[in-house]
This record gives sequence, structure tokens and C-alpha cells, in this order.
Amino acid sequence: MRIQEHIKLSTAAALVAFPWLKKDGWIPLASSVLIDVDHYLWYSVTQRTLSLRAAVRYFGQADPPQLPQARLLHHPLILGILLVVAVRTRSKLLWLILAGFLFHVSLDLVHATQMNNLKRTLSEQAQSICPECGQHYDGLQLHTIHFASNLLDRYNPQHFIVLCPTCHEEAHSLAHKPKLIGIS
Ligand SMILES: [Zn+2]
Ligand SMILES: [Zn+2]
Repeated sequence: MRIQEHIKLSTAAALVAFPWLKKDGWIPLASSVLIDVDHYLWYSVTQRTLSLRAAVRYFGQADPPQLPQARLLHHPLILGILLVVAVRTRSKLLWLILAGFLFHVSLDLVHATQMNNLKRTLSEQAQSICPECGQHYDGLQLHTIHFASNLLDRYNPQHFIVLCPTCHEEAHSLAHKPKLIGIS
């Protein structure tokens, strides 16, 4: 799920939880957004660059690799260790941080499930034929044409298309050059 969407949903959740958390509400809000820093750290270490721009480009490519080592803070083992420490130390701060992390990971899970379902349904409809180049390809990739600002409309199949990897890559490179005509 995109960072903007995480910020939006986490802010909404923090507002709902405000009567209980009061001024502490910013802690889970911050942790639910900052958890994604693990992607950047992994990128910086492996690519030996601190360029945020390069990292954003890397993770924004058509089909970015989903490496578990790039998502360390999202890993159940790490979350489990944090949980044990939180129980042992009874640290309120740690509980709040963990709440933010778990909220984020749950959203990611819902998102991944929705995207997988869309990919399967649309690939079946397209009979595994890429609508751009007409090639038959097993394992078409899901491409988002439109990011709906209304989250209830976020996973509307009309906002998606399935493409072969080559056309998908092409669609993303066109998207970065707004003067060229993008695919529809
Ligand atoms: Zn194609
Ligand atoms: Zn795409």
C-alpha cells in the first residue's frame, strides 16, 4: 500500500482513538508510517546510496521485488520479539509503537489480498493475453491506472489493468514522463 494511503488511514485511526490515547495518539500514528523506513534502510545499505529519490524510484518500479529482508520491521518474528519485550517491560511506549506497526502490517495484508484477487480475476477475463501487445503471457502483472482517493473505491476493477512485464515496465516509464501520452 502506498505511503500516502497509510498516512491517511493511520490519521483516521488516530483520530478515532483520540478519546483514549489523548496526546499519546501521535506515537502509533508515527510508528505506523515510519515502519516503512526499513525499505529505505535496506536500499541504502545494499545499494550504498542515501538517495531517497533513487529508493523511491526503485520501489516505484512496475513490479518491485518483494524481498523479506527489505521489510524487516514488518516481519512476524520482529513483531513477535517486540511483543514479548512489551509484555515483559510493560512499557506503554513500546505498546503504542507496536500498535502502530500492527495496524500498518494489517493494512498491507488486506491490500495484498485485494490486489491478488484483482490480478486473478482480471487475468482470467483477459485469458492471459496482454491487452497492449496481444501476447499470451502466464502471470500477467496488475497495473493501477487510477488511484482512487476514496478508499471505498480503491479496489474497483475499473482502476486496474493486467499487462505483460514488458508493457508494464513501459507503462511505468511513460508515467514518469507526463508529456508523453500514457497508456489508457
Ligand atoms: Zn504486453
Ligand atoms: Zn503498474
